[in-house]
Amino acid sequence: MDAAKVQAALKDLGQPGYRWDQVRKAVFDQAVSSYDMVAVLPAEVRAALGEKAPILSFSEHRVDSSADARAYKALLDLPGGGTIETVLLKPSATRWTTCISSQVGCAVGCTFCATGLMGLARNLTPEEISDQVLFWRQYMKRMGLDGRLDNVVYMGMGEPFACYEQVSASLRTLMDQKLFGIGSRHISVSTSGVAPRIEDFGRDFPQVNLAISLHAATDELRTRLVPMNKAYPLAKLADALKKYLTMTNRKLFFEYVLLKGENDRPQDAQALVSWLKGLGPLSLLHVNLIVFNQTDTPHQPTDESDARRFQEQVMSSGLKATVRQNLGRDIGGACGQLVVLEKAA
Ligand code: SF4
Repeated sequence: MDAAKVQAALKDLGQPGYRWDQVRKAVFDQAVSSYDMVAVLPAEVRAALGEKAPILSFSEHRVDSSADARAYKALLDLPGGGTIETVLLKPSATRWTTCISSQVGCAVGCTFCATGLMGLARNLTPEEISDQVLFWRQYMKRMGLDGRLDNVVYMGMGEPFACYEQVSASLRTLMDQKLFGIGSRHISVSTSGVAPRIEDFGRDFPQVNLAISLHAATDELRTRLVPMNKAYPLAKLADALKKYLTMTNRKLFFEYVLLKGENDRPQDAQALVSWLKGLGPLSLLHVNLIVFNQTDTPHQPTDESDARRFQEQVMSSGLKATVRQNLGRDIGGACGQLVVLEKAA
């Protein structure tokens, strides 16, 4: 929902100011999925709003659920063509989290990612980004799923810092107390390392969590796995992260997808530790090791025992590291980065 568009439509319809409050409460507090469910609105206003400013900016194509009902993946059809994925997860008994997309496709081209193989079609609008959260709140209500969805991670399709303006606007909407009301510390944005935007983000959103999709700590290997590393090599990324840490003093998260025989060797763990140690206080750095979710790529997942060995090597340096498993493997969740369940470290 684009709040400004709805307010303009209400004004065009000659409606008094309090109508917006009625719509806002119904959509954001009660998660209604149709204006027809807002009984306080006159019938002609409901019909006109449905035409001029629909609640959602896309339509549901399908929703798949994992066998354990802790992961859901939706395919959403965009106006004018194009489909995006968004995922709803229940990583613990009481919490719901959504992983949302910021672009249709992605230009970063990570070689282990199905989305990266698609290339970039377009950026999402701010409304299309924040509507993914609204979609899941409506879905939870419709399906009777208990609990509240108030954790959001920007780790679906796309590179959020390649569409910084749209992502910034969507963050403001999600954090707006009169709209979604999601606390800044419950939101995480993941970038593959667009260095100039990292500094902007630290300045603009110092309370929102930042994660770096690192996956390798030498330029040779990282350029092979994350081709955007050519534009922002590790030295440039390190400079931006040092400034970010100085500016925010916030914890930084590093995502590292373990690929068998490629980036999971003892020398890779050593390179990771050395690079991270150059950034700042170890207490502010957290490594998430992710067991690869098999996609149509030549990469293979690391064995469980090798993942533990890698984790122990990283932790022996004083860094915090967790190994994460994919939640919802049976529904082929998102780009394989975040459909995860945190396991005991
Ligand atoms: S992993 Fe993320 S950044 Fe890399 S290609 Fe896939 S969507 Fe883009």
